[in-house]
Amino acid sequence: MRDDCELPSPVFVTGIRVSPFDSYSHAVRTISSRINAGLKTFCVAINPHKAWKARADRDLYATLNGADMHICDGIGIALAARLLLGKRIPRCTGVQLFFDLLKEAAERRWKVFLLGASPESSELACSNLLRMYPHLRIVDYAHGYFEDSSAIITQINESQADLLFVAMGSPKQEFWMAENRSRINALFCMGIGGTLDVVSGKARWAPNWVRRLGLEWAYRTIRRPHRLFPRVVTGVLFTFRTLIQLIIQAFR
Ligand code: UDP
Repeated sequence: MRDDCELPSPVFVTGIRVSPFDSYSHAVRTISSRINAGLKTFCVAINPHKAWKARADRDLYATLNGADMHICDGIGIALAARLLLGKRIPRCTGVQLFFDLLKEAAERRWKVFLLGASPESSELACSNLLRMYPHLRIVDYAHGYFEDSSAIITQINESQADLLFVAMGSPKQEFWMAENRSRINALFCMGIGGTLDVVSGKARWAPNWVRRLGLEWAYRTIRRPHRLFPRVVTGVLFTFRTLIQLIIQAFR
């Protein structure tokens, strides 16, 4: 395999793989080289909520660790890597990588398929993205409330998409991609959670200063407390366990 197609060797943060990319452009360059070389890449975004849940859920653990590429999406993961392993892993959030990849896709004329969100949100997101990136080739899209996966996979393959973004929330999107990746021809696929709702305007992206502080999770929780409160709880548990592990390490 060519060097530029190599994914960085994973670092294990509380047992979950994380790919230490130096920057967003490093991640985009690697994905681009892999697409040009015809290599398939299944990318998952790792945050404390998923890392915590994966400890008790063997299927989620296997799905996350079985992916090819693991971006350091949550600030809690970057902090745990720093505290427990002494490694600086720059954050690479799923939302920002999605936008960076669309920019690259528009330049390179890659074909994009968007799967997920409600019918209205997915349609609106597509038209907004075409306004943002006039040269983007969204070859097709489908909402995320389908019954028949086989029909959706046929639709994806018939579109001849190079990139597939799946916005069905976690862990549903990760399970769906892992189960169907061998039948999907798109070379790159990645889960993007609620990103299409942000693009459609149904949800708001955290302001820049909130993102710089790594506090998107707090922003989203304040806006949707019922849905996101459990994530705060698991985030706190994850942080607590990281600190305990740190204390144990210090006394060893
Ligand atoms: N969704 C979907 N199919 C489903 C369940 C959810 O397409 O069966 C969509 C939902 O409409 C929303 C997104 O998945 O657009 C989930 O957004 P959320 O912010 O909850 O995801 P997260 O980023 O927190 O995983």
